[in-house]
Amino acid sequence: MQIVKDYGPITGESIAEKLNLTRATLRPDLAILTMAGYLEARPRVGYFYTGKTGKQLFADKMKKMKVEDYQSIPVVVNENVSVYDAIVTMFLEDVGTLFVVDDESLLAGVLSRKDLLRASLGKQELTAIPVNIIMTRMPNIAVCYKDDPLIDVAEQLIEKQIDAMPVVRKTEKGYEVIGRITKTNITKAFVSLAKED
Ligand code: ADP
Repeated sequence: MQIVKDYGPITGESIAEKLNLTRATLRPDLAILTMAGYLEARPRVGYFYTGKTGKQLFADKMKKMKVEDYQSIPVVVNENVSVYDAIVTMFLEDVGTLFVVDDESLLAGVLSRKDLLRASLGKQELTAIPVNIIMTRMPNIAVCYKDDPLIDVAEQLIEKQIDAMPVVRKTEKGYEVIGRITKTNITKAFVSLAKED
C-alpha cells in the first residue's frame, strides 16, 4: 500500500519489482486490497490508492445492503377479520406486526402488538370487532421497496418509532405487500456485517 501511495498509479509488475517478488506471488494480495476497497485497479494504468479509511469502507458496505437481501415473508390478514383472529394469527405466525390488506390484496393498514392490546382493554367482544376499526391505516403507513438501502429503512424505524415496515410493490391501484422488514432483520444484518471475512 505504501508503494502504491508513493508511486501510484503503478502496475502490478512494477510493484513486484520493487519488492523483489514475482507478479504471481503478489496477485492474491493485490486482489484482496482491491476487493476491500483500499486500492483501485485501472486496466492499462495500474493500481492507485483510493484514500478511503477502514471506517469509510465499512460505511460504504453498509449503504450497499439492500432490503431484498434481508427481508422476511410478510404475514397479512384481511381487513374484515376480527381482532380476536388477528391476535391468534400473531401468535401462530410468531410475528409482532401484521399487515392488513383489502379484498384486492392491497395494503390497507398495520396492526402492532399494542394496537391489539389496546383493543383488548375494553369490554367489547373481540370476535365482533373487525381489525379495520383499530388498525393504523393508509395513507399513514410507512413503506419501503426491495431496492431501498437497508440503512434508510433502519433510520425510518427509529425516526417513526415503529418496529416494522412492509416491503411493497407499487401498482396502479395501490401497494402489494411482498415482504417485511423488522428490527430483527436489521439486527441480523448488523451481525452479518461483523461475521464477514
Ligand atoms: P407496538 O405498538 O407494539 O410498540 P410499533 O412501535 O411497531 O409496535 O407500533 C406503534 C404504532 O405505529 C402502532 O399504532 C402501529 O399500528 C403503528 N405502525 C406500525 N408500523 C407502522 C408503519 N410501517 N407505518 C405506520 N404506522 C405503523
